Amino acid sequence: MKAARLHAYDQPLALDELDEPRATGPLDVVVRIGAAGLCRTDLHIQEGQWAEKSGVALPYTLGHENAGWVHEVGSAVSNVEVGDTVIVHPYISCGLCRPCRRGDDMHCVNGSFPGIDRDGGFADLLLTHARSVIKLDPRLEPKDIAALADAGLTAIHAVKKAAPMLGAGTRTVVIGAGGLGHIGIQCLKALTPTEIIVIDPSDKALGLARDVGADQAVKVDGTQVDTVRQLTDGLGAEVILDFVGEKGAIQDGIAMVQDGGFYHVIGYGENVDIPTIDVISREISFIGNLVGTYTDLEDLMTLTAEGKVRLHTSTYPLEAINDAMADLDQGRLQGRGILVPAG
Ligand SMILES: [Zn+2]
Ligand SMILES: [Zn+2]
Repeated sequence: MKAARLHAYDQPLALDELDEPRATGPLDVVVRIGAAGLCRTDLHIQEGQWAEKSGVALPYTLGHENAGWVHEVGSAVSNVEVGDTVIVHPYISCGLCRPCRRGDDMHCVNGSFPGIDRDGGFADLLLTHARSVIKLDPRLEPKDIAALADAGLTAIHAVKKAAPMLGAGTRTVVIGAGGLGHIGIQCLKALTPTEIIVIDPSDKALGLARDVGADQAVKVDGTQVDTVRQLTDGLGAEVILDFVGEKGAIQDGIAMVQDGGFYHVIGYGENVDIPTIDVISREISFIGNLVGTYTDLEDLMTLTAEGKVRLHTSTYPLEAINDAMADLDQGRLQGRGILVPAG
């Protein structure tokens, strides 16, 4: 099979011919990839930011937001059959450890993460696990929903955490209306009555933000902090959802959060840099968000089936992976980039 693999950091991916994975374990599931979403994390992996954390050995196959059809199942798999359309929760969790028992799939102590620390879905086939697959309506096209497996999942996870603070009359600033942000806006709209203020440097992204439900769209042009403070009666917003985490977003977000407010870190790349005296005197809570749980993904599939969340995507053949990565890096990608294997 074909697979797009990283052989060396700071180098383009190579399209290799590999042996097909097999469902040798009792709960293994092999998925024929219908589509795989491209994530900013793939750029960070290529830059080497994850090398130490993941401990992965090169070369390996990237791609952690996957959907397709079940190709082969292990002897004990009972929740899906060959041919089922599935979306793949990005993490493989054990189901037995304490974090798994409380439903916190991402912090499973025996887990693994295809596309991060083992072979992922930029390929014709992906080896995953019965616990990770959600069976979908067969009419759903993988290319239309693949990015919900990570971008969408991460967005709804953060929105669900923030939602208890977001009653009527509250404001939320969404930093970045890209692949995650535009889903976050729709989840906020579906799950809370908060007023949604979106900031982004791109006019196109701001247009998309308005289309999917933003109440205010503010251009990042040097005046964005003043504009947001005016829009929030000089107080700032109760909640910041920072889908960027770099390129000045954090300074902006800290200046836009209300005293006593909640700053959700979702995008990443640079440091949260704030004097501790400001953290205590302004009583700002900084909250990390790592992808989401299996049930978050089920919730998101329900919102999608109800037409409340729609993905905006740009599709590339798998062979064009390096063009897609360059487009993402240079801000040319609208919505989420989706790789579709020829098979
Ligand atoms: Zn990702
Ligand atoms: Zn576990």
